[in-house]
Amino acid sequence: MRAIRFEADGTIRFTDVARPDPGPDEVLVQVLAAGVCRTDLHLLHEVQSGRRDPLVPGHEIAGRITQVGREVFMGSPGDVVGVHYEQPCGWCRHCRRKRTNLCQRGRSLGFDAQGGYAEFVVARQSTVLPLPPDLDPVDAATLGCSGATAYHVVATLGEAEEDSTVVVVGAGGVGLAAIQVARAQQARVLAIDPREAARKAALDAGATAAAAPDEAARALREMAGEEGADVVADFVGTRESLERGRALLGYGGRLVVVAEGEGTQDPMPVTAANLVEGGRAYLGSYSSTIADFARAIALAESGLLRPLVTRREPLSKAPSVLGDLEAGKIIGRAVLLPGTP
Ligand SMILES: [Zn+2]
Ligand SMILES: [Zn+2]
Repeated sequence: MRAIRFEADGTIRFTDVARPDPGPDEVLVQVLAAGVCRTDLHLLHEVQSGRRDPLVPGHEIAGRITQVGREVFMGSPGDVVGVHYEQPCGWCRHCRRKRTNLCQRGRSLGFDAQGGYAEFVVARQSTVLPLPPDLDPVDAATLGCSGATAYHVVATLGEAEEDSTVVVVGAGGVGLAAIQVARAQQARVLAIDPREAARKAALDAGATAAAAPDEAARALREMAGEEGADVVADFVGTRESLERGRALLGYGGRLVVVAEGEGTQDPMPVTAANLVEGGRAYLGSYSSTIADFARAIALAESGLLRPLVTRREPLSKAPSVLGDLEAGKIIGRAVLLPGTP
């Protein structure tokens, strides 16, 4: 089958690889759409520098089941599904507590198992979800990464609910999804971003207000008085953004950090008083679970979460799409269509 491989010399090769066979508990999925993510660029650089083995990338996948293993009962050939890239082991301590995002014994499609930049991919039956008939697989593909992550941050870890005040720091792709998730939870949302275009996109996505970083404290007071934020979701992850986010937290507030930005090596001093006073929580968000993915799909089905796909290309165009992504030429999301010649 045709696939894209990241090679050790740094090339992105459109090539033939063996078609995978599904194991007893796995399904074979013909890939209809594979989202192109900034993480893929990081992976390419890791392969290039020898820190990671060559691989077939692609962790945002939607497709059609064409074959099932003998123990599969949750899917049939013909089903159109979203594939979650995390392939948890299913029996470790974290998996048994449904924190499959923290499984250390599983694999991840597009990272250490063959991903979706290919005509076919295999996945465990418990990691695919049937898609609603009116949700385009192209849109659904991106929900496995940005949509599920946004849900994990805002709802699962942040516990945003009706009447919460949520601050979203960084209105890039995942930040915009987080704004929509927070609105779907019926929370108020303040978006913080230094870029005017990003603030406008945040308002278009439903943010109650948007402010530049140095205006954040004033904007939050206008929204929530002296109460502060219930959730601060930090998609920037610099020392500056962490300290600002911490200062915005109200009593019982939760700071959820998603990204590791530049300068994260600089330590942020935290005293016991910072944690005890007002019962604040500082949390790190890692990946997402199939339950988060299911919620993201449901929100997309009801129109509350709108994936921003702006470009569709055949698989062979992956090198130029990744080049454009690196050059900052892609606004929104690009998706590869392995079924298109
Ligand atoms: Zn991604
Ligand atoms: Zn596990």
